[in-house]
Amino acid sequence: MWRTGAPNQNLLENDDFPSLGTSQTRRATKKSSAALQSYPEPVVGPPVGHVTQAAGDTSESLSRPVKKSERAAMQQVVSQTLKTHRPKKIPPELIQGFIDGEKNPVSALMEYSAMSRLATTFQECAPVNPSLGMRFACSCTVDGQEFPQGQGKTKKEAKTNAAKNAFTELLNLEVDDEPDASKVLYDALGRKIVLNSDNSDSGIKVVTTMDREESNNKMLTAAGALTRNPISVLQEFCQKKRMPFTISASDVAGPDGFIASICVNNEEQPIAQAPGKTKKEAKRLAADNAVQFLMQLDAPQMPEEEATHFDKVASCAHHKLYKLLQGIPEYLAGRKVMSAFVLQKDEELGEVVALGTGNTCINGDGLSMDGRVINDSHAEVIARRALVKYFYSEAKNFYQGNASIFVESPCTPGLLSLHPDISIHHYISTAPCGDGALFSPSELHEYITEDEGYTPFVSDRELVLLGEEGVERIENGVHLPTFTSDAHGNLRTKIETGEGTIPLEKNQEYVQTWDGIIQGKRLRTMSCSDKILRWNVLGVQGCLLSHFIEPVYITSVTLGNLFDHGHLSRAVCCRMPEVVNTLLPEGYMLNHPYLGRVTLYDAPRGCEKTNTLCVNWSLDHDKIEICDGRTGKSIETSPFRTGESGASRLCKAGFLHRYRELSKISGKQHLLGAGNYLDAKKLNAKYEEAKKTFRDLIKERGYGHWVTKPVEQGLFKK
Ligand SMILES: [Zn+2]
Ligand SMILES: [Zn+2]
Repeated sequence: MWRTGAPNQNLLENDDFPSLGTSQTRRATKKSSAALQSYPEPVVGPPVGHVTQAAGDTSESLSRPVKKSERAAMQQVVSQTLKTHRPKKIPPELIQGFIDGEKNPVSALMEYSAMSRLATTFQECAPVNPSLGMRFACSCTVDGQEFPQGQGKTKKEAKTNAAKNAFTELLNLEVDDEPDASKVLYDALGRKIVLNSDNSDSGIKVVTTMDREESNNKMLTAAGALTRNPISVLQEFCQKKRMPFTISASDVAGPDGFIASICVNNEEQPIAQAPGKTKKEAKRLAADNAVQFLMQLDAPQMPEEEATHFDKVASCAHHKLYKLLQGIPEYLAGRKVMSAFVLQKDEELGEVVALGTGNTCINGDGLSMDGRVINDSHAEVIARRALVKYFYSEAKNFYQGNASIFVESPCTPGLLSLHPDISIHHYISTAPCGDGALFSPSELHEYITEDEGYTPFVSDRELVLLGEEGVERIENGVHLPTFTSDAHGNLRTKIETGEGTIPLEKNQEYVQTWDGIIQGKRLRTMSCSDKILRWNVLGVQGCLLSHFIEPVYITSVTLGNLFDHGHLSRAVCCRMPEVVNTLLPEGYMLNHPYLGRVTLYDAPRGCEKTNTLCVNWSLDHDKIEICDGRTGKSIETSPFRTGESGASRLCKAGFLHRYRELSKISGKQHLLGAGNYLDAKKLNAKYEEAKKTFRDLIKERGYGHWVTKPVEQGLFKK
């Protein structure tokens, strides 16, 4: 392992850029455009400040909108009046019915309120953390006391959850993590098993107040999740692994205090122990140790001697991700598609410099004119943006006289280029969406091959079909793309709120307009395969950075799963005709990277489709940032945050800021003349020409028209 460049003096500053007080999201423009065209104003989200139901013995219905202060005063009066009546006795069946899930929480709460003479109201409100698919929220107030809001995909669900929260807290039904018994058992699904001390004959009772899906929802909406109780983290971890575990604490305190132990899989030998001043403290510390220990066991193995280049790249990538996610709850980190860029110097495989996870795109209504959201949160795209951010910090290092991966370009005066001994390798945990994933997995696995015939350069299918000669050619770096269907090679787009990709109309341009998306047209984003193809023609550095460095091309692409040489080579380079090399401006070329698959190393597979969170990291900053792909912004509990607005450090505005900073440091004052993001891009005529050549050729080939975002997205100034 070796490090490149000197760490920046002020890391925070490097990631910081001016934040706007108000965010110009599409939602904000929605109103004005609707008003201009005198359409009825569309209802966006639940109305706020509207009391939907009043309960208890109140005689009048509070159905008109009421001011908050007014409402509180009213409740005060109502509850005072009610308290003069004697409350009725609460039947235990009511509470039991609620606990068992047989009684609807809203009815249970209303009945309870009526019997107890408590004024209970529900109010729709804005979700505290609206980004996780929970569009609606409802808060419940009982006797003037407001309980934690309930959220839901529907108004009804939000109300039910609000009632559940209120009733649970009101009656103290929440199970304490420090029950009387010193030993708590959990079953294989992570459900708490309570030893019934009153009646030992009844044996063990499993408490199931929530089904698994519900408990997952609860976990997803929990705020402040990064400072969670380690016992919950352990419980969650063991639930995923279906590993029963026990937590026990000594009855008497020794010289170190109480000792807590954690055992798994019904084994007697504890996997972790810890002392504490109280039993509770000891248990928490022991749980923390246990989580660390179990995650260590779960860590990907580092490569052995016989590992191939592709194995090493994959192992580096997964190991880095594993280390970065240590201590981050599983449900936040997720097991999703992951992608990374690994830097190699000379023959030695260096280090991961950028990585990303994720497989979602922004919702149309999250689209923003201020450049502060990320539109495409697929792992490859996030990792590429993180790589560009790393490049900026390295270019800055160069201009400031520090060690850097860049040197003065021997070809183009005024530009930097990657050090000749350095190469960059791309890892993706699975086939990139779009053209590169356009085959059925069974197609690859219906061929069974002998072990000795194995090579990481082709799939089993190809090993059989291509024969020794074909395989040898591929091993020598030749690409033999597969074109067996009319669909092969076509541009495809990811679609808003949908899985997978769809092809573009062949001879028709698909223009996305701002007002079109406002009126509900589904936002379309180019697939990862198409974007990687572009990187193999224009370089990975992007337009703005091309003002400072020469195009950077990727040396190899490694897939963790679903690798097929024929399909991947077609998708990421070979569908672009070679003639492009004669048309591109100087410095640009069609790059055919080495392609290979992981073998020795068992790449973790699978992606959680419901989890929209994505992680980004690059070498120039130690902390990861966790964003929600649906909003394109960082979440409140993200270890790194730019500020209250949650603009990701990988957003366009961040890059415009870095571009201007580098313009000053490098003495390229003329670049500061660009008034907005789009202007800064247009200033780079050479890159724009290369981009046009690329798009024209794709179109000529009949693969479709490249789809872009509405131009309004690029007009922000800072
Ligand atoms: Zn993708
Ligand atoms: Zn190729």
